[in-house]
Amino acid sequence: MALIDPFNRTINYLRVSITEKCNYKCSYCMPEEGAHPEGHHSEYLSFDELTKIIAAFVDLGITKVRITGGEPLVRKGVPEFVAQIHKLDGLQEIALSTNAHFLDKYAKDLKAAGLDRCNISIDTLKPKLFEHITRGGDLNKVLAGVDAGIAAGLKPMKFNCVVMQGTNDSEIEAMVDFGIKKSIEVRFIEIMPIGSAGISLMDQHYPMDKILARIKAHVGTDLIPTTEKSHAGPAKNFFIKGSNAKIGVISAVSQHFCEACNRVRLTSTGVLALCLGQEHSIDLRSPVREGVSHEELKDIIVKAMLKKPERHFFNENVHNIEFKQMVSLGG
Ligand code: SAM
Ligand code: SF4
Repeated sequence: MALIDPFNRTINYLRVSITEKCNYKCSYCMPEEGAHPEGHHSEYLSFDELTKIIAAFVDLGITKVRITGGEPLVRKGVPEFVAQIHKLDGLQEIALSTNAHFLDKYAKDLKAAGLDRCNISIDTLKPKLFEHITRGGDLNKVLAGVDAGIAAGLKPMKFNCVVMQGTNDSEIEAMVDFGIKKSIEVRFIEIMPIGSAGISLMDQHYPMDKILARIKAHVGTDLIPTTEKSHAGPAKNFFIKGSNAKIGVISAVSQHFCEACNRVRLTSTGVLALCLGQEHSIDLRSPVREGVSHEELKDIIVKAMLKKPERHFFNENVHNIEFKQMVSLGG
């Protein structure tokens, strides 16, 4: 069975936030005081509850799950959770988005549990600037996490770099070189008007065409668009001509990629968010806690797909977007 939305898109990718907490407070993502005021512990889904929901999705044709947050590795028991969902028949890929601060500790266990790959956020290779952007992050720990992930075989690994005009746009070239050195694709992400700082972030928006022009000038050759479908998601991917090195650009603002959207998101409190840029969502926690059966849960999910909107409106609404809830994205 496949999950098809009203615009004939097949939904086969589920992003699951397992916590809103994070040990970092990146300026574009978290308020200075950290994650939102904590709800009561009981508001958050247990790993068993998350697995029950994921099992229903997998039965409905979801083949890829990405574990994200907040920072997923601040929650205890992630390898055990990965092992639990790895058993689900039909799930072909389990990926993780992480800031890699704790990855040196968990990489081996995660791989052994069935994690396939991970994406790591790094916005600069300058330790002081890294500390500034993440409000206290430790670049050395992250680089140790990268190496541990590579050694454990979490591949293909990708680096995510949010480009901020006047903050780290001068790091584009260094990040390209770092990716080439490590044989890892770097994906440059246009800042989006989400999270606590919302619209005020757009002062720092650095558009995709400028990013690509900078990279081209730096490598001194053309960028050849790749034809790959898998793993590409909303990124536009390119080979650096004459090499195997790849780079990607994710531009939700300059160009929306909604016509190819194949994903939905589950928050750590059990809200199923159907679109990144809008507030179409349904609550899955209540039915799970009321003891719905597997088949009933599948039915609720199939009906929820009817609410998936055609597209987001970052561009049109850029002056009035107000997000009440942190949404997890990128990856
Ligand atoms: N903590 C993990 C990490 O940093 O990779 C996973 C969660 S984080 C919210 C997922 C991705 O969202 C990261 O790559 C981050 O850079 C990106 N992100 C967060 N806020 C963003 C924003 N306002 N604009 C663009 N990307 C953003
Ligand atoms: Fe934490 Fe990731 Fe957000 Fe940075 S981007 S504050 S690491 S959740």
